[in-house]
Amino acid sequence: MQRFEEFTTQFVQSIGNKKGAVSPTVTGSASFGYGDPETAEGIFDGSVKEPLYARMGNPTTARLEQVLAEMDGGVGVIATSSGMAATALATMSLLKSGDEIISVGGLFGGTYSYFSETLSRFGITARFFDVDALKAIDEAVNEHTKIIFLESVGNPNMRLPDIKAIAEIANRHKVVLIVDNTITPLSLSPLALGADIVIYSTTKVISGNASVLGGAAVFRAISDEDDKFKTRRYQEVHKFIKKMGKAALIGNAKKRAMRDFGMSANAYASYLTMLGLETLPLRMDRIVDSVETVVKALDAKGMDINHPSLPSHAHHERYKRDFANGCGTLFTIDMGSKEAAYAFLERSKIVTITANIGDSRTLALHMASTIYSDFDENIKEFLGITPGLIRVSVGLERPEDIIDDLTFAAGL
Ligand SMILES: *Cc1c(COP(=O)(O)O)cnc(C)c1O
Repeated sequence: MQRFEEFTTQFVQSIGNKKGAVSPTVTGSASFGYGDPETAEGIFDGSVKEPLYARMGNPTTARLEQVLAEMDGGVGVIATSSGMAATALATMSLLKSGDEIISVGGLFGGTYSYFSETLSRFGITARFFDVDALKAIDEAVNEHTKIIFLESVGNPNMRLPDIKAIAEIANRHKVVLIVDNTITPLSLSPLALGADIVIYSTTKVISGNASVLGGAAVFRAISDEDDKFKTRRYQEVHKFIKKMGKAALIGNAKKRAMRDFGMSANAYASYLTMLGLETLPLRMDRIVDSVETVVKALDAKGMDINHPSLPSHAHHERYKRDFANGCGTLFTIDMGSKEAAYAFLERSKIVTITANIGDSRTLALHMASTIYSDFDENIKEFLGITPGLIRVSVGLERPEDIIDDLTFAAGL
């Protein structure tokens, strides 16, 4: 094991109990008795830190939230019912009609349609940019820009952002930067690189075995001094800064999104997510090595492989400089045509054909006929969706077995 050592201790120590039940307790109750009216009043005004009602949080979920906050150095975390719910929570708690989003890189299909089809119905405009369009991103910021949204790794185009450079633009204009770090938990710490909010689909590699749907939004602390959230652009947040200081973004998101939309995590989902989290450092370490081994071997066999660890990739230097701990579980294969892609998937014995990623087992999917099937041609081109494109998410199997299977599937 080479990477993520510090988290191996932290996760198991903070998730397990030393006394009584070792594995975290699942609190299934939807409501909580307050005991007396004074305590009830205190819970509602926030002075008493006890559970209010499960839509606003529950003790099992609170434990998961604490571990995730420590993982990313956030002031707090809100766990949600799915990754899309985390994106919805983080964005809806800040946006109002007339606002604009600058979306950079990626982009996960659900996020793309949320921005372009759903938020547009509420008078919110999103504009989409490639990770390297720094000048255009800089020039696109105006008085209506509320959020710069960035995915840590282009899925499935495998392009890597210069997160520091994009954070520099966001911070110079005092605009919020949200990073979707679903693909690179532990490998990247977006808050340390200058982001304000990090979101995760914990459904993926964090839980790691397709047992549970979930998400999380990690918020940074508001500074005691100058802070972009204290400017007029974010005036709706000011009352929470007055009341809650450093933790204002948690209060804002709980009231503006969690309470009003109800995308709350349930206790059993939080429990399963914690069980996954305990082994995340070990699994990520192994998979990062396996991905590099597998793509190198398939590339050497002449397959059309897209992964930044390959010297031919446009972002190979950035990969070596900024992604020393890998860029997650994904790579893509372009089989040249839909027919060849289908034949490949039918011949492979190892892959599970599914839309998920970050699983213990190797997964694969033909992109154009599934997730992107109802996207316009020009958008597919922008997102790098070619007719023969297969996305692979590498699992925990022996890398040699994956290589043998995928070369056989490719007819080599
Ligand atoms: C899966 C995924 C999401 C959405 O998460 P769900 O848990 O499926 O709602 C968001 N962003 C990225 C990068 C994802 O891979």
